[in-house]
Amino acid sequence: MPWPEPHDHDLFTLIDREVDRQNRTVQLIASENFTSPAVLRATGSVLTNKYSEGYPGKRYYGGNEVIDSVEDLARDRATALFGAEHANVQPHAGANANMAVYLATLEVGDTVLGLRLDQGGHLTHGSPVNASGRLYNFVSYGVTTSDERIDFDQVREAALAHRPKMIVAGATAYSRIIDSRPFRAIADEVGALFMFDAAHIAGLIAGGQHPNPVEQGADIMTFTTHKTLRGPRGGAILCTKALAERIDKAVFPGLQGGPLDHVVAAKAVAFFEAAQPEFKDYAARIVANAAALAESLAGHGLRLVSGGTDNHLVLVDLRSFDADLSGKKARLALDRAGISLNENTVPDDPRPPYITSGLRIGTPAVTTQGMGEAEMATIGALIHRTLVGRDDEHEIAAVRAAVNELCEAFTPYPDA
Ligand SMILES: *Cc1c(COP(=O)(O)O)cnc(C)c1O
Repeated sequence: MPWPEPHDHDLFTLIDREVDRQNRTVQLIASENFTSPAVLRATGSVLTNKYSEGYPGKRYYGGNEVIDSVEDLARDRATALFGAEHANVQPHAGANANMAVYLATLEVGDTVLGLRLDQGGHLTHGSPVNASGRLYNFVSYGVTTSDERIDFDQVREAALAHRPKMIVAGATAYSRIIDSRPFRAIADEVGALFMFDAAHIAGLIAGGQHPNPVEQGADIMTFTTHKTLRGPRGGAILCTKALAERIDKAVFPGLQGGPLDHVVAAKAVAFFEAAQPEFKDYAARIVANAAALAESLAGHGLRLVSGGTDNHLVLVDLRSFDADLSGKKARLALDRAGISLNENTVPDDPRPPYITSGLRIGTPAVTTQGMGEAEMATIGALIHRTLVGRDDEHEIAAVRAAVNELCEAFTPYPDA
């Protein structure tokens, strides 16, 4: 075939640099992971060439007999993995999955109840700068001041006062188990639909480390496939049979055009991998590593929001550790030391969302590359050392060298 001759040196040099960064630095962003070679292979396959608007058996384009089987495989594996009645695997991302649910179930202006964004809720749960907040009337509940866990009295009071059409559970920065049963009961009391956004914890649910919202009565569960689930970048929706047709129509033609068939295929691979017995061990190790990291950080005098973690992440409140240290300053110093994470608001944060007083730290990626509790203690110590020595370039360089050495024994992509 007459492919272009010149090699795109500029771009592929950049990809090589990114492989090197992922191999040599520590990835603690709670929403990131390393995908398997099989997932990467499907994502880079010729399925990217295909147009297949519609659903299996109901396409608007020819030549979809293979694609139909791919999407059926992905849907069947998703429903089996989570015990759901119906799956839509086409959303391009978690945000699209959420918007499709809103489009399927709400009218513009309808009231929805969700977790406060500064206490762990997601942009798509009603942020004024997101379509969700511009199109729908989001009202929020928060965490208690005492134990910093979801305040179900607030959820119920807000539901009774505002009569939402939908209650949304799920979070982007919350370190505890979220029990769906009280949400289900409150939704029933006010006649609301109940959606669980499991973007972060889908892998923990599949691996048996978090209660399954589908089994606990959620009408709809949205999730991303690239966070703890360890698949390709993308979204998915599970729902009851009763909602299936409305959800499918909202994804296509409501919100998207043609599906990303290569990504749908890679989602099928991820669902296959998550159904293996080893994935249960993986999910358990993510949680054990988060607990070990929490213990190490607390041992170095850092305050953890809610006092610890039940899942894959910890939220550090830096205020009592060092009043001058914002989340942003801490993140920038850690970046120089080869430790990637993100700043995050803490409950009742006095600083704005682009500065913050906290750090969100997650263990899915380091667990994938084989690190265990001993390495979590090392990483906790390196984080502490960086925060204390943030203005000392020798200290930062020393931490960076220690990080590179640690990663050498756990290289995620040695052959890339
Ligand atoms: C990550 C996340 C999303 C959005 O996923 P994208 O793929 O980034 O669009 C939605 N909801 C929650 C709770 C998330 O954490």
